[in-house]
Amino acid sequence: MANPDAGGSQTLDLARQNDLFETVAPEEILAWVTSRFAPDAVLTMSFQHEGVVIAHMLRKIAPETPILFIDTGYHFEETLKYRDQLIEFFGFPIRNLTSIMPRAEFVAKYGDGLYDRDPDLCCKINKVEPMQLALRGVRAWINGRRRDQATTRTRMPIVERLQGGIVKANPLANWTSRDTYGYLTKHDIPTHPLFGQGYTSIGCFPCTRPVLPGEDERAGRWAGKNKTECGLHTFLGNDEAAPDAGTKDVAETPRGPERASVEDAPETPRSRAVRS
Ligand code: SF4
Repeated sequence: MANPDAGGSQTLDLARQNDLFETVAPEEILAWVTSRFAPDAVLTMSFQHEGVVIAHMLRKIAPETPILFIDTGYHFEETLKYRDQLIEFFGFPIRNLTSIMPRAEFVAKYGDGLYDRDPDLCCKINKVEPMQLALRGVRAWINGRRRDQATTRTRMPIVERLQGGIVKANPLANWTSRDTYGYLTKHDIPTHPLFGQGYTSIGCFPCTRPVLPGEDERAGRWAGKNKTECGLHTFLGNDEAAPDAGTKDVAETPRGPERASVEDAPETPRSRAVRS
């Protein structure tokens, strides 16, 4: 894709860029982001399927793109094994981000089970703060969020500008869980071992349970708590200088009882085209 807007993020016409990106494949979006912002573009992933798909795409497009993994110390053993398996499978380097507070100090200060008593604080210390540090010097942040994962994401643009000028790219915004699973299958990429056990969204083990039939894809995250996001994707608000950020009016995907289950997730014409 031509790069019509080389330069800093402040010169970006996000609305125009988002209009263009609504009808292209994720690979084109990744090519645009990396050609424009490398070497200051990074991918964050937690070894859920979306991040794995993007990492696989980047192998051909921009294999030098740093991949960041936030090692909270509370991941499932299966996630860590899956991480190691994929590092061997792909040969890509992963940068582990950890809390600046050693675990012994964390436990001494907060005791066991902060994730139950104050999950926002636990996420802040173990996820958000390491990410804040890692984003220093970063100009583009690629991640695997999809619009149909949550009502808070249904109007998510494909590219947005965050406070501080960081461009956040959501190349799989239009994909479904079925799309990501189909991509992994097509390319013979291993899937997360817990996915087949009903875990449709996988985070830290104390805060993740399998979803029940008909439940929301992220219903197993912080279940029973008034919390739906860890804070990683909300601690930097959108740049007020670009309040629309090119946000499209995306058809609302119902959540909770009204929302389709993963198995029912509709295919999108664009993702069908990508897979074919
Ligand atoms: S997801 Fe749970 S265990 Fe992980 S950092 Fe957040 S509160 Fe702590």
